[in-house]
Amino acid sequence: MILDQFPRHPLTFGPSPVHHLRRLSDHLAAKGGGAQVWAKREDVSSPLAFGGNKIRKLEYIVPDVLASGADTLVSIGGYQSNHTRQVAAVAAHLGLKCRLVQEKWVPWDDPTNTQVGNILLSRMMGADSRLDPHGFDIGIRDSWKDAISEVEAAGGTPYAIPAGASEHRLGGLGFAAWAFEVAEQEKALGVTFDTIVVCTVTGSTHAGMIAGFAALEDLTGTRRRVLGIDASATIDKTRDQVARIARHTAELIELGRDLRDDEITVLEGWAGDLYGIPVESTMEAMALGAQLEAMITDPVYEGKSLAGLVDLVTEGEIPRDSNVLYAHLGGQPAINAYHSLWPAQG
Ligand code: PLP
Repeated sequence: MILDQFPRHPLTFGPSPVHHLRRLSDHLAAKGGGAQVWAKREDVSSPLAFGGNKIRKLEYIVPDVLASGADTLVSIGGYQSNHTRQVAAVAAHLGLKCRLVQEKWVPWDDPTNTQVGNILLSRMMGADSRLDPHGFDIGIRDSWKDAISEVEAAGGTPYAIPAGASEHRLGGLGFAAWAFEVAEQEKALGVTFDTIVVCTVTGSTHAGMIAGFAALEDLTGTRRRVLGIDASATIDKTRDQVARIARHTAELIELGRDLRDDEITVLEGWAGDLYGIPVESTMEAMALGAQLEAMITDPVYEGKSLAGLVDLVTEGEIPRDSNVLYAHLGGQPAINAYHSLWPAQG
């Protein structure tokens, strides 16, 4: 298996847990659905600072970091970026320095936004986390290039990790491997997931899964739908980025064919108008996850992908005889900055 030829630096406890969301499945069945909903939990799969999807991507990037001789990881995200928190965690774990650019990606003006949650954890782990007024963009940014130059000017050796670790040549491998992990867990559980639902913003989580499940399909003949739910609210950019990274990752793992268009599906309709701002469907989905399963999701990412899953299941777009796997990618620390969505009662 070609994926085994890429060095992987373990940062997780092992395979992320998979479990049945029985009460959510029953609730959606009563609303017209019928599919059985399961979750695979990247939020509880690593000992490093509450984990999340970037940890898996970084498992394949760390060997390159160590080979490069760098002493400082440099990365970028929003004020409440889960990604930069996970980069800070990996830097602390490896004994490296960390320089983070935290941009104002979300017009969320609660004063705690720059003080609690992810950014607080990054500070606790010793990262040099600096605020920057620029707005949301998943592309390569000048502020990030400036941070790299600053580290160099101060005599350091930076290793640059782009937003979401997506525009990195190895960024898709973590979730290509995730597909094969799912296949192993299916054997143990005696269930086959015909549909995967995953939140998509910078793209390499979804893109890696697309490449991995394509390789798996070619090996086993099992065809599945990997549905990305856009949470960027810049759908064209995200679609382009997912397709580009999926094709690059497919080449890297020697898929040996081009990906079909029907293998690359990013759905819109649940992001609202702005990245980072929840809409009614986000709030409803977060409440369902929390109140039926004690499965906590956040208003930026997982609340939006869960909202997509809820609608696709209740509308029968995910058929009643399906087993659907919801990829829970983490993100809970950000809820602290969104405390005002759940005001105190009484
Ligand atoms: N869910 C969470 C909790 C995230 O932190 C991210 C990061 O952007 C995503 C989903 C989206 O993943 P990606 O950026 O790889 O599309």
